[in-house]
Amino acid sequence: MTERVVCLTCGATTSTFFIAAEDDLTGRPGRFTFVRCATCGLVYQEPRLTLEAVKPYYDTEYIAHQESRRWGILAPLFSAAMGSLDRAKLRLVGRNTALNATSSVLDVGCGSGSFLQRVRRQTGAGAAGVDFVDLSARPEFDGVEFHHGLFCDQEVGRDRFDLITMWHFLEHDYEPRRSLAHARAALKADGTLLVEVPRLDSLSFRLFGNRWPGLQAPQHTALYDREHLLDLVRREGFTVREYLPYGAFPPYFYLFCGLAFRVLRGRGLNLRKAIYVYFAGQVLLLPVLPLLNRLNFAMQTVVCEKRK
Ligand SMILES: [Zn+2]
Repeated sequence: MTERVVCLTCGATTSTFFIAAEDDLTGRPGRFTFVRCATCGLVYQEPRLTLEAVKPYYDTEYIAHQESRRWGILAPLFSAAMGSLDRAKLRLVGRNTALNATSSVLDVGCGSGSFLQRVRRQTGAGAAGVDFVDLSARPEFDGVEFHHGLFCDQEVGRDRFDLITMWHFLEHDYEPRRSLAHARAALKADGTLLVEVPRLDSLSFRLFGNRWPGLQAPQHTALYDREHLLDLVRREGFTVREYLPYGAFPPYFYLFCGLAFRVLRGRGLNLRKAIYVYFAGQVLLLPVLPLLNRLNFAMQTVVCEKRK
């Protein structure tokens, strides 16, 4: 069920206790431990569930995989939230990469595929996606090349993509170095890799500690701060073009969930009920939400290119 883990970045076996987490989102039982590597300082989950054992945690209830129609009367709000997330992703991409009909894009951990569909619609670029869960029957995957399984095991081609995106993928990855190497090989010489992950050295972690939504145990295999995210991509042969102390993902989600997890103390969040409070809070806080991104609140994004 569980396995011992060496440091995901440097392979060292010595570590010290960092924090213990529960599955605050669903309330399923279990305590999960994150340790800090004694050699490089990366924080990672150790021990952790085996890949087989973690699979049930990515079932259809998993928030990134939900279909909007399952939200009933709130479906338009859910769709709007997902649409706004996809637009924010494209804006981040647009800072560094101009996509057009001759470009090709790979989204690793593509979930429901709505981002790739937007990429196709808005830029005409060719789109490919990989996910651990097979959601390819969804209409969002029409015209998208879909690969089901672990990214490292997929034949996605070499020197092929202008842009590879990893939106909240790397912190779930069991072998992040292998995945980055695989992405590097799949990128064209002048291609761009964009990685967004939760940020450990953030205000929301300081506020919520062992109830920080970014712990997301047991799915998150590592918790990256700025230093260790940059260290990881550099070790795999990338140079950093831009680092951003925010991402496309709404920081309000971490504010809301962090407060809720503090109150619930591991009992799990009933999304069907909480969603009303979530959207109400979002409306109330609307004027101040843009500030969160300036406060190193929750996320980080690194944009890289292949080191020549
Ligand atoms: Zn290490």
